[in-house]
Amino acid sequence: MNAALHSNLASSREAFAPALTRWFKHNARPLPWRENYDPYHVWISEIMLQQTQMERGVTYFQRWMSQLPCPRSVTQAKEDEVLKLWEGLGYYNRARNLMRAARVMVDRHEGRVPADKAALLALPGIGPYTAAAILSIAYERDEPLVDGNVARVLARVFDLDAPVGETATQKALWALAGELLPPGQARDFNQGLMELGALVCKPLNPTCETCPLAELCEARRLGIVQHRPVPGKKVDITALSIATGVLIHQGRIFIQRRRDEDVWGGLWEFPGGGVENGETPEQAVVREYAEETGFAVTTLGPIRVIKHGYTRFRVTLHCFFLAPVNGLGTPALTAATEHKWATFAELDDHAFPAGHRKLIDSLARDSRFAKLLGQDPLL
Ligand code: SF4
Repeated sequence: MNAALHSNLASSREAFAPALTRWFKHNARPLPWRENYDPYHVWISEIMLQQTQMERGVTYFQRWMSQLPCPRSVTQAKEDEVLKLWEGLGYYNRARNLMRAARVMVDRHEGRVPADKAALLALPGIGPYTAAAILSIAYERDEPLVDGNVARVLARVFDLDAPVGETATQKALWALAGELLPPGQARDFNQGLMELGALVCKPLNPTCETCPLAELCEARRLGIVQHRPVPGKKVDITALSIATGVLIHQGRIFIQRRRDEDVWGGLWEFPGGGVENGETPEQAVVREYAEETGFAVTTLGPIRVIKHGYTRFRVTLHCFFLAPVNGLGTPALTAATEHKWATFAELDDHAFPAGHRKLIDSLARDSRFAKLLGQDPLL
């Protein structure tokens, strides 16, 4: 930590925590996991809220709790049920890790979320941030934590002039959060920091005039709020062109389940893949079907083009109606673990990646689809 930071910290630390916790007590949003701070609720909410907006997270949380109210119930659920509850949240490894961690809780911790740091860190999907969140928020242990919101608040109040994503800055931030943490108040202090970052000290246009830390904030005093935190290196976005198709046969639709080790492992999909150089999307979907299922198909026309963004990718998904060229036998799956000929209604019982779910949504409104379902070429 540099000298300037040290002197800022010395003068601010007395006032920082009381101002923050007082603000939190009056401004905390009434979120369902804050009703009783049950460790299971805190754990699930923390995993769900990674990369997810709060309103959306609350809806998913309530649906999850109505079906899976404790770690034991997670171990008793089928993977398909868990993935379906997770559908739309993305990053499906989080759901699979929840299942694995729940199994360890049942086998080794009497079906409870452990209150021990080493035991928490040994669980799949739980890193230093989530362990600290569970320990401080559910068990009221004096554990500091730093997430994106906390990093932004601290970088502004203490005028940190290095990108917050860098390892050395992260280390300094965790140390700073630890120094500021008032013993016995970790629950309100940590949540207060995160809540302030979410509601007041927002990335763009923070409302400094309503901020409880305004008097202590170096970035505000210096007029450089918009320059803190210092941005890190920009992530390169890769454009991907993908072709997929809905193969209809005897009123049913072909879907396959992705291999566990693949992206979106365990989810269902319509076969497809990347459009190669010199290939049209129509050619790509016909080739992909042959490679992934052994089926010879032909396109019956485009359905729509779906644009979809993931962390480092911008995907353009070309979607087609497909029909078999000749009789269909058992598929020779090369990119999936199982397949189904599903009715349209049954598609709702399966978890699909977001792009394919958008495709299903548009099928419901497509009169050509209804016609194809009733007029299969091989009927
Ligand atoms: S005064 Fe403004 S920049 Fe500083 S912590 Fe508060 S909201 Fe953030």
